[in-house]
Amino acid sequence: MAQTILVTGGAGYIGSHACKTLARAGFVPVTYDNLERGHAAAVKWGPLEQGDLQDRARLDAVIKKHRPAGVIHFAAYAYVGESVEKPDLYYRNNVGGTMSLLDALHAANVDCLVFSSTCAIYGAPETVPIPESQPCHPINPYGRSKLMIEQILDDYRQAYGFRSYALRYFNAAGADPDGEIGECHDPETHLIPLVLDAAAGLRPHISVFGNDYPTPDGTCIRDYIHVCDLAEAHVAALRNLLAGDPGEGLNLGTGAGHSVKDVIAAAEKVTGRKIPTAPARRRPGDPPALVADPARVREVLAWEARRSGIEEIIGDAWRWHQAQRQAK
Ligand code: UDP
Repeated sequence: MAQTILVTGGAGYIGSHACKTLARAGFVPVTYDNLERGHAAAVKWGPLEQGDLQDRARLDAVIKKHRPAGVIHFAAYAYVGESVEKPDLYYRNNVGGTMSLLDALHAANVDCLVFSSTCAIYGAPETVPIPESQPCHPINPYGRSKLMIEQILDDYRQAYGFRSYALRYFNAAGADPDGEIGECHDPETHLIPLVLDAAAGLRPHISVFGNDYPTPDGTCIRDYIHVCDLAEAHVAALRNLLAGDPGEGLNLGTGAGHSVKDVIAAAEKVTGRKIPTAPARRRPGDPPALVADPARVREVLAWEARRSGIEEIIGDAWRWHQAQRQAK
């Protein structure tokens, strides 16, 4: 019998890719999503149970119906700017929602979970590449909400033997190479989809946020990781938990950094189009460079990024972008 996995936020960008990867690995992903920011059309590899994390009765009923062997928990708000303006939303939905989920799992004796965390928990890092041992000083409510959940999960491991991995994503990007799902945020704030909008003529230019950072070309450096590589790491983490591992916090990145200018140049190459740029002010809260030290995740999950070359990421994102436009 295939094991069922509860995927909160399975209708979102990373969640839907994880569902596809889970199904391919022989699991049945059951998506639990309130569809406030996710898309029902992205739920293709298992049932969709619509519901909110704060709706404990609904959660209990879904867990009773599907009897999951484990959980992958994506459901959360994830806009840094919004979190600064409305911290209550982030603490209630991200932290409060996770508490409601943990209560429901505890009551049903479900004892393991993979958590969608973020490199934003490190804040402005002391050294780059960033190892997991780096102190965590998040600089916005979004990052703080994720760090609080990591700390809660650590306490649950100690107190209840509740097993969990917190996967700290660097910059998730790209799309399913088969073209079935991709990135679809409203509003879109991420660099690669916006650069592709500019390539397609849907925006007059891409604004480059700051060109005087202490980096070789003056623009910010990030560690872009293909969403399918991320999805595979979730399945590897889940397998470890199901085998009895206690879990820990792990960086999910490639170890390679690309500047904003590098990304634009790679997008020009992939799309064959000239992409107009406009200098803009630094975005508040952007550290100059965020790059993972992936040594620990490679060792613990026996996982390696396989599709995360910057041109491969942008190529998959571009195919999805083009297909979306044709469908409109
Ligand atoms: N960025 C930019 N112009 C944009 C959007 C993003 O120059 O229109 C920069 C941003 O300052 C950061 C990098 O691109 O250095 C990646 O930003 P994104 O929002 O994609 O991810 P983040 O690193 O904030 O999670």
